[in-house]
Amino acid sequence: MDFDESPEDAAFRAEAAAWLDEVRHTPEAVQVRRRPGEDDAAFAERARPWQALLAEHRWAAITWPEEFGGRAGTGSQAAIFNEEAAARSLPTSPFIVGTGMAGPTIIAHGTEEQKARYLPPMLRGEQVWCQLFSEPGAGSDLAGLSTRAVRDGDEWVIDGQKVWTSGAHYSDYGILLARTDPDVPKHRGITYFLIDMHQPGVEVRPLRQITGASHFSEVFLTGARVPHDAVLGEVGGGWAAAMTTLGNERTFMGGNGAGPGLADLFALARSTGATKDPILRQHLASAHIRAEVMGYLGMQVRTAASKGQPPGPGASVLKVMAAWNSKCNAELALAMQGPAGMLADASAPEDGRWQQNFLFVPSLRIAGGSDEIQRNIVGERVLGLPPEPRTDKSVPFRDVPTAT
Ligand SMILES: Cc1cc2nc3c(=O)[nH]c(=O)nc-3n(C[C@H](O)[C@H](O)[C@H](O)COP(=O)(O)OP(=O)(O)OC[C@H]3O[C@@H](n4cnc5c(N)ncnc54)[C@H](O)[C@@H]3O)c2cc1C
Repeated sequence: MDFDESPEDAAFRAEAAAWLDEVRHTPEAVQVRRRPGEDDAAFAERARPWQALLAEHRWAAITWPEEFGGRAGTGSQAAIFNEEAAARSLPTSPFIVGTGMAGPTIIAHGTEEQKARYLPPMLRGEQVWCQLFSEPGAGSDLAGLSTRAVRDGDEWVIDGQKVWTSGAHYSDYGILLARTDPDVPKHRGITYFLIDMHQPGVEVRPLRQITGASHFSEVFLTGARVPHDAVLGEVGGGWAAAMTTLGNERTFMGGNGAGPGLADLFALARSTGATKDPILRQHLASAHIRAEVMGYLGMQVRTAASKGQPPGPGASVLKVMAAWNSKCNAELALAMQGPAGMLADASAPEDGRWQQNFLFVPSLRIAGGSDEIQRNIVGERVLGLPPEPRTDKSVPFRDVPTAT
């Protein structure tokens, strides 16, 4: 593991910091700062000019090849840009499902026509993307998905239900996995589609969460159509492309410090007088230690990324730790507010942003692969524990017993 930044990364950090300082007071940057309790759809709309500015200066997708508007940068450089932007309270990409997941998958598995058609508007924030993978009966066991796609001439007809689809209610396109061959084992009969969300047969029903926001939706697909030229990769070969998407997702889920950062937590401690309370001081010290440990874990993952290695199990360790850290910090923030911690919305300190954060962070333990699944990965691939029995792996999908 490299503890020091390489000269290239240090130069990259300086360039990123200088650019962010130059633009931080522009209308695009000022209006993109998140407002407490704001609806995701309204935020995405407000964030479009910022995304266009990032794209114009080639900061919107640092790891993409230069020919598609990226910088051919490393994962480590993308993380450096995120850190510098976060230090200035600027979001790096409100359109992360597109630039962070769909884009890299299209670059790795798409045709030249698909790259030319989908990547430029995605990069500029003109077309918003969502991820239509999870289903009511397929989350951790994603390969057990049962949404069907049947070929009809030059098109595919899709029927099924997706759930947990973040941003579906304001998305223009979706990356969708559907079963195209139930006669082969479950991982082999899946195809990856790029689907237009604005068409008859795609019904999006937003779900209201405990925060009051509707971050994700149920999506019902009834005879929805996808042209054959919007199949990504091989028919039946969707699992390989899905692995590209999920590898990218896990990396940014672990790397993104969700919600307020450590500096905000310490500012809250000073304003509430928690720094004088011996018990709360212990918890603040723990928060500092966790941040340091996560910093080293991040370095480990970034060192691997800068050597061109895939995210691997280190990203799973980081994701589990990041979710747990966010939960501990959210609890500490409310404890520091004393009785005011029980208030909500505008009556609570700082317009209730800590309360919103407290309600939001448990979802980090599920999104992008649950804690238990990450621990299975660590158990099997780091600790060398015996793998889980997977009895349905080589059975044709239609013969796998189901509850229905
Ligand atoms: C905020 C949020 C946003 C999301 N956004 C999206 C999105 O945009 N697109 C999308 O496709 N999906 C999205 N998801 C879905 C997410 O990927 C799934 O929720 C996750 O993979 C878990 O699947 P599940 O909910 O079906 O739970 P299940 O797989 O049914 O799991 C239920 C419980 O059983 C445990 N479990 C399951 N299998 C095992 C095992 N083998 N060993 C040990 N424990 C196990 C799980 O850890 C969990 O605690 C989102 C989820 C959240 C919370």
